[in-house]
Amino acid sequence: MSNKTKRFLLQEEEIPHYWYNIQADMKNKPLPPLHPGTRQPLKAEDLFPIFCQEVSRQELNQTDTWIEIPEPVRDRYKYYRSTPLVRAYGLEKALDTPAHIYFKNESVSPVGSHKLNSALAQAYYCQEEGITNITTETGAGQWGAALAYAAKVFGLEAAVYQVKISYEQKPYRRSIMQTFGAQVTPSPSMSTRAGKDILTAHPTYQGSLGTAISEAIELAQTTPNCRYTLGSVLSHVALHQTIIGLEAEKQMEMAGEYPDMVIACFGGGSNFGGIAFPFMRHKILNGKNIRFIAAEPASCPKLTRGKFQYDFGDEAGYTPLLPMYTLGHNFAPANIHAGGLRYHGAGTIVSQLMKDGYMEAVDIRQLESFDAGMLFAQAEGIIPAPESCHAIAATIREANRCKETGEEKVILFNLSGHGLIDMASYDQYLAGNLMNYELTEADIQKNLDEIGTLA
Ligand SMILES: *Cc1c(COP(=O)(O)O)cnc(C)c1O
Repeated sequence: MSNKTKRFLLQEEEIPHYWYNIQADMKNKPLPPLHPGTRQPLKAEDLFPIFCQEVSRQELNQTDTWIEIPEPVRDRYKYYRSTPLVRAYGLEKALDTPAHIYFKNESVSPVGSHKLNSALAQAYYCQEEGITNITTETGAGQWGAALAYAAKVFGLEAAVYQVKISYEQKPYRRSIMQTFGAQVTPSPSMSTRAGKDILTAHPTYQGSLGTAISEAIELAQTTPNCRYTLGSVLSHVALHQTIIGLEAEKQMEMAGEYPDMVIACFGGGSNFGGIAFPFMRHKILNGKNIRFIAAEPASCPKLTRGKFQYDFGDEAGYTPLLPMYTLGHNFAPANIHAGGLRYHGAGTIVSQLMKDGYMEAVDIRQLESFDAGMLFAQAEGIIPAPESCHAIAATIREANRCKETGEEKVILFNLSGHGLIDMASYDQYLAGNLMNYELTEADIQKNLDEIGTLA
């Protein structure tokens, strides 16, 4: 193959038939999630009232390394997969770096982000189990859009709580969800107890993923034949996303290279886990020397500045207690444009891997993220999602380091989504109106002190 190949694609039959369950290979398994009431380790059955049964089992599966992708899900993957692995010649040139930069382009999915990889799986399992309605929360609207489409594919009704700031900043994501037939409510809303409580205490609150999760779970629990779905954080979501890294492994082989570094932006960890885990497998099993870098916003720095402890996944404390790096479930992130990264915690698998030194994290300020996004757009012709800009910024930092040292490192990053529905954010950047948000140690400590030790 020519060494100037730009894009690497797999044939349909080469699309993986199995997801990779890293929990089975981890030396130190994630600590168990705890029941919020009894504080006892959770059993899959405890999750059945909220999630469908199959994903509940997947969530706690620490033994099966490979989990088969159901045929109907794989058939739908073929509508947009394989996604291209792209050699970023344009970006390399713009940076004048000796590094070889590759990105996996998940923005080509019908909804513009990686989120569909798990939405299709979750909607399929719900349909299989006779569930008729699904509910969820969404920040920037990426997950909501993915779930709305997946629900339509598998004949389910979808109700989505969208974080109010995003509902207002990103009206076209709401239109997309509605186009696919979902019912969309801005959160906090007066339609749930969790929403009413927070609106009573803070009438102007612009919402957070944590609050919207509480509202969606409450709806699932009070609506017959309805289940809740989550687009990030949980282990089964990262499992479904490993299709990204499994494809990328084959595609890197086509390119005749192997990554020295794998980079992804970090909200709850699903696109990071998705691209990283299949490569990390070789680090865990064979000690292969690869760096894994999670890029999180400086205004929501759970991995770089949070604490590893049990915490709730949502604002109101309805979810199980999860052992994770957290800023506290009461943490209200600044209104950055990367709505999908405004979450207080990190998934339990990633948290354990971080604790055990298999990966690292960097924090990126808002302006640096958009500087990176602009450069990438001009060099590669793809306008990245504000979330993905964080991965690009981390990649640029590493590529610049290579320029200093003259090293030809191979960098692989995940382009989790495009920014074509986020142009209002770019408008703000271009008008010079975007700002960085500073968080002091005292801000961070105050939240953690407030929640104390939960288990
Ligand atoms: C949701 C989202 C993220 C963050 O979620 P993860 O679970 O951390 O991947 C990142 N990028 C895009 C485009 C998203 O939609």
